[in-house]
Amino acid sequence: MWQEIVEVKSKLEFPREICILSHRNPDGDALGSSIGLALFLQSLGHRVNIVLPSEYPVYFEWMPLTEEIIIYDLAGPQAAEYVKRAEIIFMLDFNSLDRIDKLGVAVNESTVTKVMIDHHMDPEPIADYIFSDTSYSSTSEMIYEFIENYGTTVKNAKLINDCLYTGIMTDTGSFHHNTSSRVLRIVASMKDQGLDDTRIQELVLNSQPDKYLKLLGHCLHNRMELIPELKFGLISLTREDYKNFDIQRGDTEGIINYLMMLKNVTVAALVMNQPNIVKLSLRSKGNISVQELCRDHFNGGGHKNASGGASKLSLDETLKKLKEVLPFYIFAN
Ligand code: 5GP
Ligand code: MN
Repeated sequence: MWQEIVEVKSKLEFPREICILSHRNPDGDALGSSIGLALFLQSLGHRVNIVLPSEYPVYFEWMPLTEEIIIYDLAGPQAAEYVKRAEIIFMLDFNSLDRIDKLGVAVNESTVTKVMIDHHMDPEPIADYIFSDTSYSSTSEMIYEFIENYGTTVKNAKLINDCLYTGIMTDTGSFHHNTSSRVLRIVASMKDQGLDDTRIQELVLNSQPDKYLKLLGHCLHNRMELIPELKFGLISLTREDYKNFDIQRGDTEGIINYLMMLKNVTVAALVMNQPNIVKLSLRSKGNISVQELCRDHFNGGGHKNASGGASKLSLDETLKKLKEVLPFYIFAN
């Protein structure tokens, strides 16, 4: 898998201007892998810009370099400019250009070397070097191996590990799913190098404002629907909910996991009537592929048991459509 690093390395022999891109609604893995790689490349003497389509949740603000991240939604022309003038582009934690919104146009037009490192299903041929493997828990785990296979002494390993640990922890739901002996060994090795994992769990998971629990209570008490015949659990959030609970990016993170706690739920959905779009988050247990469902019906994708998508229909119509198509994916198994 990492053989082509030799070729990527040869493009990085001299100091370069590098652009690292990750997906919209950046999560812990998008940020962790991007910042971790940026710190590594900076330590080799490159100039690195991280460009993201949209803003990240406040509980990631403690991470290094966050103040320097360029966000398309806030500074479109500047973001596009950084993509245009990059001599090498890294695309992390996504595998199709629609995941980076309008930045996709700038990437498409750029003729420089592009390197994709990603762990989602169905990669599109949008990079010259594609490191893609769904057996990895996270792109952060892949970046750890990328750096290891680069074969150089890493000066700022501790700082990089904090970022990569964040991505691994968030993408595995704190080591609940997608774990492997490989990723646990990587984390063990980080710990040997001085990782303070408890501190990071506190910073990311136990730093919510009280409105988070109020919203969670509302979701579970007023917005939860269970359809026992389908072993399906659903939470939907209306525009009014967004207003009443002052829902900001990241505030709905983790809520869907409460549905998965139910014995009688094998598929769960969180459907959010966001200002411009109806956004869907799906999770499943076992063989049911929410990736196929999101890909086929909601212009989305992700992993077999955790995927997302979007809908331009109204909230009610989206829910109706979801309930109509769901049986085809449940009873296919
Ligand atoms: P979440 O439900 O936590 O937002 O996302 C779950 C997984 O699905 C993540 O791996 C994420 O990258 C992916 N995902 C979420 N939304 C979309 C989408 O609109 N399109 C695609 N292709 N993947 C998505
Ligand atoms: Mn990821």
